[in-house]
Amino acid sequence: MTSSPRETRRSFLKKSAVATTVLAAVDFTALAANTTNGNPVPRPADSNNKLPWYRRTIRFGQTNITEADYQRYDIAWWRQHWKRTRIQGVLINAGGIFATYPSKFPLHYRAPTLGNRDLFGELAGAAHEDGLVVLARMDSNRVHEDFYRAHPDWFTRDDKGEPYRIDGLYVTCVNGPYYDEYIPAVLQEIIERSHPEGFADNNWNGADRDHICYCENCKRKFRDLTGQSIPRVKNWDDPVYREWILWNYARRTEIWDINNRAARAAGGPDCLWTGMQSGTLPYQGLRFRDNKAICERSEFMLLDDQARRDPWGFQHNAQIGQLFHGLLGWNKIIPECTAMYQAIYEKTTPQYRLAPKPELEARLWMLEGFAGGLQPWWHHVGAYQEDRRTFHIARPILRWHAENDEYLISRRPIANVGLVWSQHNTDFYGRDNAEELTEAPWRGWTNALVRARIPCVPVHADHITRDADELSVLILPDLAAMSVAQVGAVRRFVERGGNLIATGQTSRFDDSGEPLPDFRLADLFGVHAKQSRPSEESRRQAIEEQQSYLRLNPGIASRAYGPKAGNEPPATGERHPALKGFDETDILQFGGGLEPLQVESGATVLMTFIPAFPVMPPEAAWMREPRTDIPGLIINETSGRGRVIFMPADLDRRYGRDNLPDHANLLANLVRWAAKNDFPLQVSGPGFIDCHLYQQPNRLVLHLVNLTNAGTWRASVDELIQVGPLTVRVRLPKEVPGDRMQCLVSKQRVNSAVKDGWAEFNLPSILDHEVVVIG
Ligand SMILES: [Zn+2]
Repeated sequence: MTSSPRETRRSFLKKSAVATTVLAAVDFTALAANTTNGNPVPRPADSNNKLPWYRRTIRFGQTNITEADYQRYDIAWWRQHWKRTRIQGVLINAGGIFATYPSKFPLHYRAPTLGNRDLFGELAGAAHEDGLVVLARMDSNRVHEDFYRAHPDWFTRDDKGEPYRIDGLYVTCVNGPYYDEYIPAVLQEIIERSHPEGFADNNWNGADRDHICYCENCKRKFRDLTGQSIPRVKNWDDPVYREWILWNYARRTEIWDINNRAARAAGGPDCLWTGMQSGTLPYQGLRFRDNKAICERSEFMLLDDQARRDPWGFQHNAQIGQLFHGLLGWNKIIPECTAMYQAIYEKTTPQYRLAPKPELEARLWMLEGFAGGLQPWWHHVGAYQEDRRTFHIARPILRWHAENDEYLISRRPIANVGLVWSQHNTDFYGRDNAEELTEAPWRGWTNALVRARIPCVPVHADHITRDADELSVLILPDLAAMSVAQVGAVRRFVERGGNLIATGQTSRFDDSGEPLPDFRLADLFGVHAKQSRPSEESRRQAIEEQQSYLRLNPGIASRAYGPKAGNEPPATGERHPALKGFDETDILQFGGGLEPLQVESGATVLMTFIPAFPVMPPEAAWMREPRTDIPGLIINETSGRGRVIFMPADLDRRYGRDNLPDHANLLANLVRWAAKNDFPLQVSGPGFIDCHLYQQPNRLVLHLVNLTNAGTWRASVDELIQVGPLTVRVRLPKEVPGDRMQCLVSKQRVNSAVKDGWAEFNLPSILDHEVVVIG
């Protein structure tokens, strides 16, 4: 007697129940009712096999199967490796570009070397026998030529009607039956054959923004919806082009829903389809992946951000983990694929699929992921590896994770500084230069705060009101494109006593990137635009580099140039605390340009612009205009209850790309002044250390990742440098007594002194990282 797929799945789950009890588990079901600002207050519990797989499977592994592996895949060896690395779930190639099982769909390509072997089924069966969760890996982006010949209307077309191809394969169109009918049918087939718990699709979003599709389906659907033709060229100033962008986003989100409906229909309510997400916003935008919309409809997320990029540093991995958790919720699992091979995202650096990533480079990337709430997922390309060192990378890290995972999931960050972002700003202000226009300011802030050891959390611009109660300071890093609602949320935050720091062109554009005659937050900033500048002018100015300076006001040196300008404070010789540490200078290198602004009475200008002058020849390197009244930094305490700092001089962007310590020190000063120097964590001692603090019921979890190493700013790291001693002070929530300390990495004994609601303790040293549980 044969059973239906649904019944087969149920009986499988029953059979595997015994196996799944050994998996580490946390009771997340209790979390839903007990939330703060949408973030759960976590309550770890003993193992509970009733939880759905996506709430209890936290360590993953993936062997990306190549065509050469079909006959040489040593399943027994890999089962041992699954066990050695303590993983609970595997991603196994199933379908899409290549099928690894005998699909009933004749056009579902199988390499001749596979023959009739059901490699996916064998591996899925082995994993299930071992109590592992199986995610069937898809790649639904492109197919072989015979498929294109059979269904030419399912494919993307350029403006001349020619199909788009990548590496000789044909790119399928998201608006055709390939996505509406074919892929859902393939998902159903895979579920019925092998019962994976879910799906992971690698490149699920079809053609990217740089490849406008003019196929008949796209043309018809876009015209039906908007009455317009698909734009002939990329033109961000054209409202129809921007509508096309939003239309593309909406379709990708729709595909997310279509695939999830298909997976659940065939595999039951817990069978999830998940497309991979990237860790950089410009890349997400280029592929029309709407972080927020996707997270709002998901129980689980897969992050495909496999390695450090030099400009970002390891710390980016913690930040991106926190950014996604801020959208998805802190009770959910976000495994992150980490390449065990040499993968660097700089285009100038070669990738070696078969050479191991230097172990310490991989380790620090993963440790920063843990510090940001990400879960581990090792990734090899090829089932047969001749450089066996690649297999040694994951084992110690994942074993440590397995021993300590109750402290690493289901927790809420403690930080009172929020760094605001939005995908609209990345797309519609950043346009094709988001790396410079929106990423660099973000990076400048995050790096300056890591350097100052001030914990911060990413806050989506639509979540300002949701998260406001946790925050003392909101930072808007050149958040140029803002909606009316977002501006209103910022205004309410300041009215209620919140402190604000904004930079660059913040609120100078609407949320579609159209320039406005004045800043939408002009009243809070205490300044108004004098000239209505074309958008491209301000974008150009933001990315140019010139020898310009800022004058610190009031000047301390007696040799100040010329009369004082506008709202500059009187020359008492005393500087504002925001300019602390700069007593020996009256100027600061800047690099950008500034426009004149009208300063309201009551606002104080702390820095003014010194226009650029030549660098060469040296004889020409003198200030032509040593003093202007163009403000570079304004503080305003008159507009609301909170402190407001507006810094049109985009020193956050400058630090993000130039890495000059003066800029970082000034950024940190601004945050300290805005927060009245009140932070929940203080860490003192030598070294470059990324600090993240979390709360679980009745305890705090502190991550300290030591980024002091020879390769801090450039991959790869091949030596760790021990730092210490460090003195740590942590503000204790009421329910945490603070007298029980546990170091999860070094196991060293640490005693704390508790006084006035703070716990203070010394850590003798840190090598790669330390996690301190404070109970
Ligand atoms: Zn199309």
